[in-house]
Amino acid sequence: MYIIKFGGTSVGKPERLQKVGELVLRTPGQKIVVLSALSGTTNTLVAIGDHLLAGRKTEAEMEIAKLEHHYQTYAADLFSSPEYKAIGQDIVSRYFSLIRLLAAGKFDDRSYRELLAQGELASTEFFYYHLRERKVDCRLLPALHFMSIDENQEPELDKIGERLKALLPSMVKQDILITQGYICRNHRNEIDNLKRGGSDYTASLIGAAIQANEIQIWTDIDGMHNNDPRVVKKTVPIAELTFDEASELAYFGAKILHPSTIVPAQKRGVPVRLKNTLDEQAPGTLISDKGSAGEIKAIAAKDGIIAINIKSSRMLLAFGFLREVFEVFERHKTPIDMISTSEVAVSVTIDDARHLDTIITELQRFGTISVDKDQTIICIVGNKLAERQGVLNEVFRSLENVPVRMVSFGGSQNNISILVESQHKERSLRLLNQGLFSLGD
Ligand code: ADP
Ligand code: ASP
Ligand code: MG
Repeated sequence: MYIIKFGGTSVGKPERLQKVGELVLRTPGQKIVVLSALSGTTNTLVAIGDHLLAGRKTEAEMEIAKLEHHYQTYAADLFSSPEYKAIGQDIVSRYFSLIRLLAAGKFDDRSYRELLAQGELASTEFFYYHLRERKVDCRLLPALHFMSIDENQEPELDKIGERLKALLPSMVKQDILITQGYICRNHRNEIDNLKRGGSDYTASLIGAAIQANEIQIWTDIDGMHNNDPRVVKKTVPIAELTFDEASELAYFGAKILHPSTIVPAQKRGVPVRLKNTLDEQAPGTLISDKGSAGEIKAIAAKDGIIAINIKSSRMLLAFGFLREVFEVFERHKTPIDMISTSEVAVSVTIDDARHLDTIITELQRFGTISVDKDQTIICIVGNKLAERQGVLNEVFRSLENVPVRMVSFGGSQNNISILVESQHKERSLRLLNQGLFSLGD
């Protein structure tokens, strides 16, 4: 079984969705096709939801009308025969009636999440009827029937697997099963989601849950590049990455993958292949457990980081001190990314500022606290980096004129993390591109 995921750009235009159909038909054997919403849809649904939560009904209605018009045009162009054109318009009016119903009611967090789910529900229905028009036998496999998260927002991999194994035997007659990325049910059985960019995560969770042969993520670029192509002009695709390397890159900001995508695939040893819908011949990137040591593979950057420094005379030789500090973050469910310690101080970074004020108040009993916002983690990734002689030298020589706030190396064999003020991010990525890969900007 293959799991094949197509992102927003890959389904964003009718001719692209038709091409997805061809690609899927060319893939042999049974496969589960995971689709994102049409590009731009989730952003618009977020904007509509924000307007409604803030009571701006007119603005929300204007956005809804604009999106509806876009969907009407899309449906008109996707289908050819009068029969299917009518089906297309019926799909659009059904979704937009529901969206208006949600907007008219008491709009709360729950209706917001239901609103966000409509993008993937609509794109998969378009694709299903598009294949039906082409006389292709296929089935919809509703994500809301099997994809779930627990009270800590963690996907329930074993339960997902059990539900899929119960559902799939009734679908053996169809080679193509179509499901929604991103959406799921939460522990209250409400509609929820796997956070922005979550369709990659859906594909990986399904692939891991049923031990698929391969998880393919089709997007608008020819695989994972050595640096962020949105910032640096000259970047190159990487043919192979280990799970650990890809995981670090996804977590530390390589937008091509949702931060948690690799976790389930790695857990169950299912390879992940990144491919380009716009250039099928490009080899893309294969992510598996194979890798060579001592090579720097890529750089990624994660913005919106906050550094917290705790300076304390109590720390000197005090065992249990760090545990007490970490417990503060644990109580507020706030993960720490980087840590750096000295005899009298410790610095940590977080990216979730929701509980920052309470965390700072609680930390004050340990000593003097200072906070630096607008920081960026630059993450240099490879396999067994310590085996590469002079690796730190190479990095710091490249960043000679950049003020570095924190460094972390040795925690894993895969990463060197550097914290800089966000204003220095672009320059740092360009300098490292030149210094580590001899590629200009
Ligand atoms: P999709 O809609 O298919 O999920 P995304 O926009 O989420 O696509 O991810 C693809 C984009 O990720 C690329 O267009 C590229 O701009 C961006 N990106 C960021 N870092 C990297 C990287 N290291 N390698 C490749 N793409 C990257
Ligand atoms: N449609 C969702 C988003 O835009 C999920 C995804 O595309 O992966 O975040
Ligand atoms: Mg994405």
